Amino acid sequence: PHVTQFKIQSIQNCVFRVLSLLDSETTRLGHHVQFDHDEEPVLMLMDHDKMLQLLLNLIKNAFEAMPEEGRVHIHLYTLEKQAVIEISDNGKGIPESDLEKVFIPFYTTKDSGTGLGLSICHKIVQDHEGTIEVESFVNKGTKFTIMLPTVGMQQ
Ligand code: ADP
Ligand code: MG
Repeated sequence: PHVTQFKIQSIQNCVFRVLSLLDSETTRLGHHVQFDHDEEPVLMLMDHDKMLQLLLNLIKNAFEAMPEEGRVHIHLYTLEKQAVIEISDNGKGIPESDLEKVFIPFYTTKDSGTGLGLSICHKIVQDHEGTIEVESFVNKGTKFTIMLPTVGMQQ
């Protein structure tokens, strides 16, 4: 049985784990992923598996929105005891009229999509007392911004 486990862990480790899980797919699709982050571990109380799923869903959506040789930029920084994770791509973007629908369960524009990924992301972020927002421009790209409370950060 799956037991929900909240532990203090570093967000950097979580991102590194996801990038290694995606490594062969990234190479196969010819995409490039850049991860910029603080040197200091950014610590938060997390369910590690849920955080992996959150990041995996967002990066996979980015991959699916880009033709070959796409670029995904992950930027992790802190702002007043909040961790900020921005995941941006240079894919096809989302029309403004569709932006408000993307977190709704079963909303998909893909032939074989489930439309569940972002609603699950939204739930995971809420369970971690954070927020998730999206910004997008058609034919330019999309940026998801996640804010999460940190623990044990010196301020
Ligand atoms: P699915 O990936 O199964 O379609 P999601 O809930 O993950 O379901 O995403 C819902 C919809 O939001 C997608 O079908 C797509 O239209 C849009 N979307 C999500 N992420 C991106 C992105 N990075 N770029 C463009 N569109 C996106
Ligand atoms: Mg998806």
